[in-house]
Amino acid sequence: MKFYPEKLKIKDQRMKPFIDPEELWDYIHNTRSSKERVREVIAKSLAKNRLTMEETAVLINATDEESVEEIKQGARLLKEKVYGQRIVLFAPLYVGNLCINNCAYCGFKASNTKVTRVTLEKEDLIAQVKALEDTGQKRLILVYGEHPRYNAEFIAETVRTVYGVKSGRGEIRRVNINAAPLDIDGFRTVKSSGIGTYQIFQETYHEPTYAKVHLSGVKRNYEWRITALDRAQEAGIDDVGIGALFGLYDWRFEVMGLLRHTNHFEAVYNVGPHTISFPRIQFASQLDIDKSHLVSDSDFTKLVAILRLSVPYTGLILTAREPATIRDEILQFGVSQIDGGTNIELGGYAKKKDNVNQDIDLEQFQINDNRSLNEIMEELIGNGFIPSFCTACYRLGRTGEHFMEFSVPGFIKRYCQPNALLTMTEYLEDYAPPRTKEMGYKLIKEKLDAIENDGFKEKLIEKLEALKQGQRDLYF
Ligand code: SAM
Ligand code: SF4
Repeated sequence: MKFYPEKLKIKDQRMKPFIDPEELWDYIHNTRSSKERVREVIAKSLAKNRLTMEETAVLINATDEESVEEIKQGARLLKEKVYGQRIVLFAPLYVGNLCINNCAYCGFKASNTKVTRVTLEKEDLIAQVKALEDTGQKRLILVYGEHPRYNAEFIAETVRTVYGVKSGRGEIRRVNINAAPLDIDGFRTVKSSGIGTYQIFQETYHEPTYAKVHLSGVKRNYEWRITALDRAQEAGIDDVGIGALFGLYDWRFEVMGLLRHTNHFEAVYNVGPHTISFPRIQFASQLDIDKSHLVSDSDFTKLVAILRLSVPYTGLILTAREPATIRDEILQFGVSQIDGGTNIELGGYAKKKDNVNQDIDLEQFQINDNRSLNEIMEELIGNGFIPSFCTACYRLGRTGEHFMEFSVPGFIKRYCQPNALLTMTEYLEDYAPPRTKEMGYKLIKEKLDAIENDGFKEKLIEKLEALKQGQRDLYF
């Protein structure tokens, strides 16, 4: 296969597009895969090393059943070895669906006259956040269409509003953002409001497909979008999330694109993306795409396992776009965050219980996992996972928490797991019905019994007791 010495030697330059389709296809078409090679590559990842583009292509090109099973098994092992049993929970909150773009796949596209356009006014936003806090949520991602009204100051103001809402013992402790690209000053403005992660998905790394599905609006500009998170870094936001919308183009190319994007960040900023997302296209009002690249369940689970192995230190986010069965399988591959109790209808969280049917004209697309936060909590606890609402790293200035979990020996034992148990206890005390409470405390006892008896265990037990006595927001 062709070698690209110039790309290996010369560091990527900021603000320059870094995707070369020929390079990505060359890796896919000309990398040979064999059972032995697949095993070697998995072993490298299990020894906690980043995989190269070529090694990732070995996994992509493995199609025999045995190798695919080994890739999935490798992802499961990596998760057990490195990340333990915690799953961080969050909820998306749609702030406004005005949009000037025409993305063929999205229900919020400007040309969709059937969609009801809503921007939450301050009091509506407060009502939504209260409703979310009343179910036990502590981490939100705010989502916006792309529109002049949703400029940096607007986004920053909504973030400040959300942090200010307190309902009973509830509060939002971390606000992430999924919004359109900004300029450097805009990113600075948003950073100053105290956001966690700024997430922007490239949708597709394949420029011709990008042009085909982004019919008009600012988003048509591939270069402006692909360099967005470089501007964020320039503005001091080093906590960024990347993603591709699977189903627009060949999934193998998109996986290589995500990897190339990751390499770019590592080379230029010395820090990889905080999270990688892999949304898969779902039915949307007036969905209008070429369906030939839709990703099957088996390719989807395989590609998530490959991402886990290729970039073992990033957080992987799985959303309620996927049905419960797929979510349950993929959770075992080292997904670190999922949403729970999701409602992507604008204003949907504060609606009365008898009025919660999904309304496709208020949504961007349809979700497939409609379980409540408590149902997700029970499911996780029942399967031995520890649901976590931890925000300690962000609040103590320990940025890049997923990287630290991965790279700092003992970090999970010392910080992540205890903080998961503490935030879960808050949930059990303040929001859980009796059955969940019983299940939750049983799990906490099991986890405590498994911790060695040392001074640290005592401190954890003290904090857990203090939470039961009414103190809140305790963490390591
Ligand atoms: N408007 C901003 C943008 O486009 O980046 C931010 C929010 S957009 C509402 C969030 C993400 O939803 C998009 O980046 C896209 O990947 C995803 N999305 C859009 N339509 C979808 C669909 N039909 N199925 C699944 N995900 C979809
Ligand atoms: Fe607008 Fe984002 Fe939907 Fe595109 S994906 S139409 S930019 S909301």
